[in-house]
Amino acid sequence: MSTPYPHLLAPLDLGFTTLRNRVLMGSMHTGLEDRNRHFPRLAAYFAERARGGVGLIVTGGFAPNIAGWVSPLAGELSTRRAARAHRIIPQAVHDEGGKIALQILHAGRYGYHPFNVAPSRVKSPITPFAPSALTADGVERQIRAFVRCAELAREAGYDGVEIMGSEGYLINQFLVTHTNQRQDDWGGPYENRMRFPVEIVRRVRAAVGPDFIIIYRLSMLDLIPDGQTWDEVVMLAKAIEAAGATLINTGIGWHEARVPTIVTSVPRAAFAWVTQKMKAEVTLPLCTTNRINTPEVAEQILADGMADMVSMARPFLADAQFVNKAAAGQGNRINTCIACNQACLDHSFQLKTASCLVNPYACHETLMVKTPARRAKRIAVVGAGPAGLACATTLAERGHAVTLYDEADEIGGQFNLAKRVPGKEEFHETLRYFAHRLADTGVTVRLGTRMDADTLAAGGFDDIVLATGVTPRDPDIPGQAAQRACGKVKSYIEVLRGAPVGPRVAVVGAGGIGFDVSEFLVMGQPSPTLDRPTWEAEWGVTDPARQRGGVTRPHVTAPARQVTLLQRKAETVGKRLGKTSGWVHRASLKMKHVEMIGGVHYESIDARGLLISFGEKRERATLLEVDHIVLCAGQISDRSLQAPLRAAGCSVHLIGGADQAGELDAKRAIRQGTERALTL
Ligand code: NAP
Ligand code: SF4
Repeated sequence: MSTPYPHLLAPLDLGFTTLRNRVLMGSMHTGLEDRNRHFPRLAAYFAERARGGVGLIVTGGFAPNIAGWVSPLAGELSTRRAARAHRIIPQAVHDEGGKIALQILHAGRYGYHPFNVAPSRVKSPITPFAPSALTADGVERQIRAFVRCAELAREAGYDGVEIMGSEGYLINQFLVTHTNQRQDDWGGPYENRMRFPVEIVRRVRAAVGPDFIIIYRLSMLDLIPDGQTWDEVVMLAKAIEAAGATLINTGIGWHEARVPTIVTSVPRAAFAWVTQKMKAEVTLPLCTTNRINTPEVAEQILADGMADMVSMARPFLADAQFVNKAAAGQGNRINTCIACNQACLDHSFQLKTASCLVNPYACHETLMVKTPARRAKRIAVVGAGPAGLACATTLAERGHAVTLYDEADEIGGQFNLAKRVPGKEEFHETLRYFAHRLADTGVTVRLGTRMDADTLAAGGFDDIVLATGVTPRDPDIPGQAAQRACGKVKSYIEVLRGAPVGPRVAVVGAGGIGFDVSEFLVMGQPSPTLDRPTWEAEWGVTDPARQRGGVTRPHVTAPARQVTLLQRKAETVGKRLGKTSGWVHRASLKMKHVEMIGGVHYESIDARGLLISFGEKRERATLLEVDHIVLCAGQISDRSLQAPLRAAGCSVHLIGGADQAGELDAKRAIRQGTERALTL
């Protein structure tokens, strides 16, 4: 095959059926699973990924019964009526030549509701509801529910099921002694604890017949202190193979694990070695997963024989055409998932419909529709940050003649700062994607061009979109101006661009940028992405053959600087960061001994450092003796062009940070830029 990705695009023969390539779209909860009325949207979302060439899609998790709900009224498949409602989903995928399996997910003690059950009554640290311990009859009922769910999936037209045995959900809870303290046939020695998943797979196979895909998601690395040993995982894998599974997918880490497994700072393909280790033990095809986001990385894994398939979930939110683009030799036009979690997992945890920061159409295929413009117009977009890029390219795709201006010499705006932050190098990919998209859509790009209102107004544009972004807020601390003049006070922009910073630093403002800057400062410059061994040492990840669960004591390298991160709010520092990534940022700074202090007043700055006090009465005045003070005090909108353009009678639109600086983020910027472009 003449392609850079011959292994990725090779078919996989499963005996009774053949997958068209080695790409599995991994399970991902979108929020559209939970109500039947959303199934047409879910079907459209999957159909687009099937049209985009995915070999096998796995749905988000569906509970086999109420006890298995992840949250109240979560998606469930337990009746024929429900199966009938599902039919449009596999049908839509089949119409596009794809295959789809339904994931059966029983949350066990992770269920965020009072009806949750578990092998033993051991409350999880991530839900407030202690589970009821299952009786022996109760265990049988859960197994029967899995079997019934699989039968109904077949009846609904799915090509198979994925049995969710990892991430700390019910099946996983049976496997480790911390959560399974039973004394009966389902507890005690590992042979007993693993009976639960093996019985499920055996009975599902008996019920669905030989020509139905059964994927078993095997927790190969629990990443919790009392997790499974490697010998135990291998014993289970062999039993699952014997019980009739078709494929084994890799599961990494319980949700309560204190090791990040998917955020952007995790090195790409950081866990493929675990699947590779399993390759020596079973003959079933194995699928690997976690932080695989480009066809190059996926191809290398397969070429190296580390796995037979590659699972990617978020990359298909970012770009439904991932496989087709790779197959057409257009891999550099893929909109790459940057592993930020901001619009996908964070939305899921907030019970909002998932989408994607870099692709706001994801899960909104039927709501955001790009139609050709009724009249081609001349439109100026000022500002080539995320909002301006999304807007300009979408406008051009709709047929408008678009000119994009930016005073900088490169596109990207704030993304050019973000990409300098350790662990955020994926932002380079977004800029690469937009550079191609600008060229492909024929946007006229004028960089290094500061536009004034008179020139714009005289330009004869039908519409002018201001995506001029933000400027840093000045916290105006007494003494700040004098110390800024002599270089002791710096802005975050100067620091991220490489201005020299001494060994002791105070960071004013603990928003997303304060955290990023602190990370940048403790890592030292230049700060390349951590290689896998260094990253594993920092987070205490090891071979489960050496240490149960694959976790050991972290070996953290010393921080490059002593950093104090400050905010005025009395709440926990970093509380407002993303739900699924904030804890990683906090943990990572703690590991580097960053002192995080909330509830401060900034009294003054002088040559010695920053004087702070605490509380209403401004007590406990404390001098932070530091070499530099870095200002990360948020942003204000740059709308300087708006009033003169309106006065000149121009049709002006504000997007991104220029519209709203508070809670400015790239997710809102790209979505707003796209939405505005769809309406002009
Ligand atoms: P931000 O998140 O709004 O944080 C601003 C910080 O400055 C807050 O800690 C605030 O805390 C402080 N502050 C506000 N007014 C101040 C004043 N007058 N004097 C002193 N301190 C003041 O803004 P940002 O950090 O600039 O981030 C901008 C946007 O980029 C954020 O909305 C964020 O979503 C996005 N971003 C996200 C990430 C991420 O990891 N997800 C990373 C970077 C940026 P107090 O008012 O309590 O002092
Ligand atoms: Fe990837 Fe971020 Fe999009 Fe989620 S929101 S799919 S992590 S780019």
